[in-house]
Amino acid sequence: MERKQITGIDTHQRRTHTCGALRQEHVGQTVVLKGWVDTRRDLGGVIFIDLRDRYGLTQIVFSPQDDQAAYEQAGTLRSEYVISVQGRVRERSEETINPKFPTGAVEVPIDDLVILNTAEVLPFTVSAHAEKRTTASEDLRLKYRYLDLRRPEVQQRFLTRHQLYQTVHRYFDAHDFIEIETPTLMKSTPEGARDYLVPSRVHPGHFFALPQSPQIYKQILMVAGLDRYVQIVKCFRDEDLRADRQPEFTQIDVEISFATEELVYEIIEGLMKAIWKDTKDVDLATPFPRLSYDEALHRYGSDKPDLRFGLEIQDLSEVFQGSGFRVFDDMLAQGGKIVALVVPGMGDQGRGYMDRLDKGIVRKRIGAGGLIYFKCPSDRSATFSSVKQHVLQQAYVDRAVETLGAEAGDLVLILAGAVPRVYEQMGVLRLHMANELGLIPDGADGPWQFLWVTQFPLLEWDEGAQRYSAKHHPFTSPHPEDLDTMFDNPGATRARAYDLVLNGNEIGGGSIRIHNREVQHQMFRLLGIDEAEAEERFGFLLDAFRYGAPPHGGIALGVDRIVMLLTGARSLREVIAFPKTQSAQELMSNTPAPVDEHQLDELHIQLVEVEEEEG
Ligand code: ASP
Repeated sequence: MERKQITGIDTHQRRTHTCGALRQEHVGQTVVLKGWVDTRRDLGGVIFIDLRDRYGLTQIVFSPQDDQAAYEQAGTLRSEYVISVQGRVRERSEETINPKFPTGAVEVPIDDLVILNTAEVLPFTVSAHAEKRTTASEDLRLKYRYLDLRRPEVQQRFLTRHQLYQTVHRYFDAHDFIEIETPTLMKSTPEGARDYLVPSRVHPGHFFALPQSPQIYKQILMVAGLDRYVQIVKCFRDEDLRADRQPEFTQIDVEISFATEELVYEIIEGLMKAIWKDTKDVDLATPFPRLSYDEALHRYGSDKPDLRFGLEIQDLSEVFQGSGFRVFDDMLAQGGKIVALVVPGMGDQGRGYMDRLDKGIVRKRIGAGGLIYFKCPSDRSATFSSVKQHVLQQAYVDRAVETLGAEAGDLVLILAGAVPRVYEQMGVLRLHMANELGLIPDGADGPWQFLWVTQFPLLEWDEGAQRYSAKHHPFTSPHPEDLDTMFDNPGATRARAYDLVLNGNEIGGGSIRIHNREVQHQMFRLLGIDEAEAEERFGFLLDAFRYGAPPHGGIALGVDRIVMLLTGARSLREVIAFPKTQSAQELMSNTPAPVDEHQLDELHIQLVEVEEEEG
């Protein structure tokens, strides 16, 4: 029989089922399926094809007995051709049932086939079969993102993301929040990063900024009496990209009038419960534990500690007071600390391992001066110290081991340095050792260790600029008990700011805000912003505070990061449809790209040659 021409025109009726729908109960029904050719097995006389769409995979069968024309045409099918097929569902024989797919008990012998489109040989494999999962590089996958996104395991993540959106809308609606859109072209709000700027054609030399966050707008909405605001919103920060950052990212942005920390915690814990229930059918326990910033730093060396394992940092400064060991004595004299980590089961590590840990990790990666360690051998022989006995007496070593409660088989790691740096360094070493011990599970099966970190410092010292900058942002309220001493001791001023942490990742942050004009002025003053500059940059907020601003507070949660953790994805790029690479490019459309001369002219922009910076 003559083969049909490939016209691409669909002469079939619309699909009756998706490729994930058919079960035993459909046996005997005539169905129309449409989708992509996943796999094709030609057994000479019969051709099996796994037909795939977003919903699943269905085995379809072509044989000359069912339809000669369709069988012949099926011989021309290749991977990723788009087809429409019609046939009558039948049961598979016992031995051919495929338990890996929900449709695996049935198949569809085809009596009519329309080829809707062909596909060239793909740059990498797209398949629903786990064993055919591509190993193509990420760059190649991003260049052909439409093919990458066609892969079921990738689509699954976007399904989770979609479910999360639905839960968010439902949850906040049920709690009296209203969704309000704030501008994307706006005046810059400082959140500590560089702005993406958009030149104004109409106002030469003037610029919009893309929002780093809708911070000021959402506060203004509270002044406006809208009481509870939520928005799933794109934000933009022009930062040098780290592995877990994207220049544009999505936040669940929340602001609440008459808020207290407790109210924010309660609302957000409820949201997390709903998200985990809806997307994973997991019941989270609430309330989440809390740690003050100071405690988190001193016990775990981080403001986003991973509490899925212990390995707490301990302070040995007292123990080594007057030890005569120069490194310790000098550090203590300068107000620094000597901190330790007990690593179980590593007390018998050899010299090579310890050298690699010292040079490769402690000095190179963590940037600390060097590692001191004590090994408590598992055979209970004497503790070995990396510092020779005539330099640090054994009595101090033994006392340290005793204070720490270290036992035979443990390794004690010690760093000396200035606060808070030495704690942060130990925090990184803690994570490294937890990894070595296999204490950090990956994947999407939990455990889910949430944590509120509270009472952040209001300010941090900016070494480069030689002044204080806001640790969170300039609209964060100081702790009421610290208001009077704010100017005498800015560095010790606590903020009413909090972060939400999940398994060592910051997934949200917010604060109770300043709603008083005078306090806001004082805050600007602390940051070295004088009255004139404050008026120029934030006059509209300060003005709004004249007319009855209610106390308010809020939070923003990182959608990309939450979805990444929910789905066990390895990077944010895996949960963003068209992400940017580490070098802030979008590889499929090849963006950013140059623009026409006349576009630049219209925007009053002249390009100048710049010499490439070295390094
Ligand atoms: N605007 C803050 C941020 O984007 C969050 C907040 O304070 O609500 O980080």
